[in-house]
Amino acid sequence: MPSKISLLDTLGPLGWDAAWAASAHERDAGSTETVAARIIAEHRISYQATGADGTAWCEATGRAFHQATDKRDLPTVGDWVLLERWAESRGGAGNAVVREILPRRNLLVRRAAGEASVPQPMAANLDLGLVMTSANGDLSAPRLDRYLNLLRDAGIPAVVVLSKIDLVPDPAPVIAEIEANAPGVRVIAISLVSATGLDALRALVQPRATAVLLGSSGVGKSSLLNMLLGTQQATREIRDDDKGRHTTTRRELFVAGDGSLWIDTPGMRELGRWARDDDDDEEEDAFDDIAELAEGCKFRDCRHEAEPGCAVRGVVGPDRLASFHKLADEHTTAAADQKTARRIAETQHAKAKRYVTRPGKPGDER
Ligand code: GDP
Ligand code: ZN
Repeated sequence: MPSKISLLDTLGPLGWDAAWAASAHERDAGSTETVAARIIAEHRISYQATGADGTAWCEATGRAFHQATDKRDLPTVGDWVLLERWAESRGGAGNAVVREILPRRNLLVRRAAGEASVPQPMAANLDLGLVMTSANGDLSAPRLDRYLNLLRDAGIPAVVVLSKIDLVPDPAPVIAEIEANAPGVRVIAISLVSATGLDALRALVQPRATAVLLGSSGVGKSSLLNMLLGTQQATREIRDDDKGRHTTTRRELFVAGDGSLWIDTPGMRELGRWARDDDDDEEEDAFDDIAELAEGCKFRDCRHEAEPGCAVRGVVGPDRLASFHKLADEHTTAAADQKTARRIAETQHAKAKRYVTRPGKPGDER
């Protein structure tokens, strides 16, 4: 195992510091079996974590699932974990297993409501939350509120980013409206087109600090990330070795060119889905035309991508179709999250049942 000094060198850029080292040491003093790593991507059932030796696919143990009361007990993007390598013979999808999650400094959790009332972790160990809203759309105060509340509940400092100010003659009224709705919260107005406010935004997140980017689909999160990363590929397609197919990672940690760390999250639609708020229905209604055209598709589950007999592709513009796919993808992530939540609930239920119905022999302790 590398010494603490070299760990600080190699993991430092991911946010590792003396306190994390102490935390790891406390749990794992002198072990050669485990290595510290940060969860940088969350897929449906597996994760990617970066440690001193590079990035590995990993999974939570069956035991972790079994013992989890809800998803907060499982790894999430931004977590620092202790990884243990699977023995080759054990095979499986991951090549490492998450032995332990180091106690989090904070955890951003989606507020759920209704029967699917399960806390959904979004990201861990954050220094700042940026809530993005665009200058050209109508400001949704409840939506803004919801994001700010999530951050406040998690004890994470928040800043509002007003995007696309090149699209309005004067952003001042919108800024005033935001300030009225969120007293005391800093507002930064930016435009990627006119390159306004970008230095102020960059200055918010120091190298090795982690920020999360929140906001509805379309407000400009990916564009901003691309700019910060200096790439065209914020939403990377990563090959999922498990299934041999491509999955789009919905939660991912990126290292920007200046060394700041950024976590992208699913859009508002998913958040709205969990919160069951009415003000998001407009987003769904916005794709009514696609839903109508889809009646004419040959396959009922047509995704309007490459399927034969598609009545949508070619009729609906590529940009609109892309937005639709993005939204559909968020629904899939929400469904997958619900599935995991259900799996945990079922395990809990089975455990409880076993406890109740276990045949008791005379003289049994319980
Ligand atoms: P996301 O869904 O939040 O990731 O939003 P995107 O980054 O995909 O951006 C949605 C649309 O807004 C894209 O067509 C972008 O080109 C556009 N966009 C992003 N930032 C700006 C900006 O500063 N000004 C203008 N005019 N358009 C922008
Ligand atoms: Zn179709």
